[in-house]
Amino acid sequence: MAHLPTKHQLEVDEAVARVVAGVTRLDTEPVARAEARGRVLAAPVRSRVFLPPWDNSAMDGYAVRSADIATVPVRLRVTETVAAGQFPSRAVQAGEATRIMTGAPVPDGADTVVRVEDTDAGIDQVEIRVNRDARKNVRPRGEDIAAGAEALGPGVMLGPAQLGVLAAVGAETIEVFRTPRVAILSSGDELVTPDRFDEVVAGRKIVSSNNVTLRELVIEAGGEPLELGIAADTRASLREHLARAQGADLIITSGGISVGAFDYVRDVLAELGASLDFWRVRMRPGAPIGFGMLGGTPWLGLPGNPVSTMVTFELFARPAIRKMRGHAALHRARAAVTLEEPISVGVELTHFLRAVVTRHDDGRLTARLTGPQSSGILSSMARANALVVVPRGTLQLPAGASLQAIPLGGDGAFTDRFGA
Ligand code: AMP
Ligand code: MG
Repeated sequence: MAHLPTKHQLEVDEAVARVVAGVTRLDTEPVARAEARGRVLAAPVRSRVFLPPWDNSAMDGYAVRSADIATVPVRLRVTETVAAGQFPSRAVQAGEATRIMTGAPVPDGADTVVRVEDTDAGIDQVEIRVNRDARKNVRPRGEDIAAGAEALGPGVMLGPAQLGVLAAVGAETIEVFRTPRVAILSSGDELVTPDRFDEVVAGRKIVSSNNVTLRELVIEAGGEPLELGIAADTRASLREHLARAQGADLIITSGGISVGAFDYVRDVLAELGASLDFWRVRMRPGAPIGFGMLGGTPWLGLPGNPVSTMVTFELFARPAIRKMRGHAALHRARAAVTLEEPISVGVELTHFLRAVVTRHDDGRLTARLTGPQSSGILSSMARANALVVVPRGTLQLPAGASLQAIPLGGDGAFTDRFGA
């Protein structure tokens, strides 16, 4: 069976752009606010109420008329006490004060809350000793959000603050982008699931760590993994496993995409009618990486080497998943780092080197490599907190040279421009 047509090798940024262009934002669905953490809003949410709903006190103290405290000290008659959760029964007249707690509605007539620390804390009468609070400490109705105003706009990811806003404005069901279902398939006759570790101990098999890293990466990126297991290195097994990707929004395979005699992934996709956009990118790790469409479902063919799998996931799969789930900022924001040691690379490719980036007291970031950069050394990925990017064409860099680093891990910042 012939391979799909072999396109020329792409630069990384072009390949990433093609993947991003080739996937589309998913449709939307209503979800309960309590289930919405991490989801991206698909429609504006308008407030059902004024927030705060009434002019209220920013301090524990006394609501007064500022004209009455033009000269201090001054004694005022305290007409009532209003706690948060209560309402004033009367307006403040000249010569009067209402004892008031933080959050309680400010009575009519008052334009000032004098903090209790500036008074004698009296109950029936109060001595105001300092007037620095004149015309202060009244939080006006709607100062946060007016009724009917947009509380949150589309594209916003719902974290703790956003969910708090939604609760405060009465949004109990909201429209968010659907969560991408991401099919994960490994392939290789040498691979077993961890429950068959006796075969690993016996020296016959290795654990398919890619199933584990990909599953966790998909979840971390906001997708829902659909685990297709491990296919053998036969066309039939690959076909059979891929058939179970029905309903997936994205198919990720690992392994079997290079030029080995048993690398059938591209063949099988071609037999199934897939179109292939590219399968080689000028990068290391991860040179053989494929992208195409299988019956309308985007497919990413990641290389099998465990580090290559993770690095190509970062560069290609994570932005694809983020686009599908409604994010505008798709790519990890990079940071400038200074090399602690010289580095050299052997070939003119864009290199993504595993590194430990350290932030110093003066804010400077420095980077050192985790050691040997073979794409089989998965433990180095576990030690790294960033990938240092060596631009294609650069082969040697001295200590002190400045490079960009892509942070790894769940909670980095994202940008809408690849490479920024
Ligand atoms: P391949 O891309 O199939 O040529 O595999 C390249 C290397 O990655 C080989 O050493 C494989 O044993 C290894 N490999 C492939 N798939 C996995 C996997 N799912 N988990 C761990 N290692 C893998
Ligand atoms: Mg293989």
